[in-house]
Amino acid sequence: MVGLLPLKENIGVRVPAGQPQSLTDMMVHHELHTTGSGVKLNWLRAAVLGANDGIVSVASIVVGVAGASDSSGFIFTAGVAGLAAGALSMAVGEYVSVSTQRDTEKALLEKERLELLNEPEEELDELASLYEEKGLTKATARTVAEELTAHDAFAAHVDAELHIDPKALTNPWHAAIASGASFLSGAFIPLIAIVLPPASLRLPVTFAAVLGALVITGTLSAQAGGANKLKATLRVVLGGALAMAITFGVGKMFGVIGI
Ligand SMILES: [Zn+2]
Repeated sequence: MVGLLPLKENIGVRVPAGQPQSLTDMMVHHELHTTGSGVKLNWLRAAVLGANDGIVSVASIVVGVAGASDSSGFIFTAGVAGLAAGALSMAVGEYVSVSTQRDTEKALLEKERLELLNEPEEELDELASLYEEKGLTKATARTVAEELTAHDAFAAHVDAELHIDPKALTNPWHAAIASGASFLSGAFIPLIAIVLPPASLRLPVTFAAVLGALVITGTLSAQAGGANKLKATLRVVLGGALAMAITFGVGKMFGVIGI
């Protein structure tokens, strides 16, 4: 699957789909697997999970309110409030988490830069020992470390030691917008499904639309993670159905009490 995905530009190599042919291909293949496509898959996974979240939370909110009230106005208002609250909370949460990670990565890069400046000999030894640990002989590891250091010492250390691509640090604003937008894209489904049909069909239409949407997100997330599709989809669909059933029950209960 790796070769089918669009590759990041800064890798600058394109690998055809299928089995790697040579050692170089295998190294490139591995590189793509752990960096380029890994990042892409993480984003796809995050987007699908965000959409999933939007579907289940807003579906539960509108179904819960529908359990207590027949008022289209109430149901719609609750759904819109849930949609806005969820999207904003996802965006803020993502902004904070990515900012923190980015600060940590920047601090590590700065530390590495200073170490290379102040103790280049120790850093060369360190790089050589890293390659030795990977299975190279002492002499080869030394040669590799020396050549990489001569070429671009900082890039070599960042790659071997920190596993960070300094050119590919995640922008917290992009992550926040992507996260909020993916929640929104999912949240619209139950909101539209409960508002459009006549009152008597509201709940069955919403249940059907939500479970159908969850089949899609479940399949997509299983595909992104390379997991068993049926199992993953079943989990997502059952989880969503359970959430709607419980909030409907809660709404019904409070509706009867008249709170
Ligand atoms: Zn180092």
